[in-house]
Amino acid sequence: MEQKAIDYSGLVASICEKRLEELFPAGIPLDVSERFSRELRCMNETGHAKTLYEYYVFADAAEEALIPLMVRGLANDSILTYLLGNNMVNPLEAYYYCPSCGYYERIPDYWYGIDATVKKCPKCGQGIQGQGFSLNWRILWGTRGTRGIHFEYIAPPSFLPYARNCVEALYPDNVVVELADDEFRIVYGTDEDVIKRGFAVLPTGKNEEDYLDKKYIFPDGSSAYILDIEAENEGVIRIIFNWFKPEDLLKIMLPASSTSLSMRDILKYGYLAYRYIEFYGINSVQKKESDMVKQTKYLNQYFNRTIGYVALENIGDGTYALVSPEDKVYEYSSDDNSIRDTEMKLFDYILSRFKEADAQQ
Ligand SMILES: [Zn+2]
Repeated sequence: MEQKAIDYSGLVASICEKRLEELFPAGIPLDVSERFSRELRCMNETGHAKTLYEYYVFADAAEEALIPLMVRGLANDSILTYLLGNNMVNPLEAYYYCPSCGYYERIPDYWYGIDATVKKCPKCGQGIQGQGFSLNWRILWGTRGTRGIHFEYIAPPSFLPYARNCVEALYPDNVVVELADDEFRIVYGTDEDVIKRGFAVLPTGKNEEDYLDKKYIFPDGSSAYILDIEAENEGVIRIIFNWFKPEDLLKIMLPASSTSLSMRDILKYGYLAYRYIEFYGINSVQKKESDMVKQTKYLNQYFNRTIGYVALENIGDGTYALVSPEDKVYEYSSDDNSIRDTEMKLFDYILSRFKEADAQQ
């Protein structure tokens, strides 16, 4: 008996529609439904329904396991990504929406809705906060909507077994192997720069024996297969993960002398901050660096007063939220080189940012 093909496009559409109804309980604004339909068309025309469904499967497994999973790069620009995952990056153009009465208004003066002031809903009087990060679908899908979507995941290594289960369930008829990347070996020339990068799904009918020349053995005895983009042309599916280890971040962020127990605590919260405050964070940059790390390095280099602090957030207009080794949050202004105590501990600061996000409700 022939097995019925799975309708990934229909699955993605129905998951997204359900989520849209949750996000817009008093009616889905026209701008939103237009963007959603357009991106669904892009997905179907470029044949990427399964790619998006895969993302949903990974995001769902991560949420269930309480493990943070992030997406790097352009895939964050899609409303489909936003709707399918447990994702804070709302790519819609900045807007106000009142969940009580359905009032909707674009905010043309702001790129990020969160930067606009809270205002009263003109229809029902409820306080409403700006939303949306104005990420452009054209950059992702191309102006003609023909470019397609690709996911590159970021997760801690604890997600590896879950990820493997997901991949095996998605490709039950194929052999799944670990994927290695020697891009950094090509650049830096040493074997230490070969890194594990997720999974490769071998073409139907092929197994490890067919790829022995691509096998790489790591010093710890484990192995993975170096299958590059050319292998994709031969039918290999590469599912790329960047295994993110909090310790790696610590090494970059802190000179050895300042490592202390409380800095480890910062790291713990900093990791939360990646998820909830620093929306782009390690999404936007290579390997082990984050915007947080980059900003800290930048501030430390040019503004001596910031040495010993970690730059938590760029608030805008030359102002940064800094965190001290005692977990206290300060506001630093690069304009007049002043430091102001917010009188909040890091965790309270993060909570206050949550509250700002919730103020609309
Ligand atoms: Zn209202």
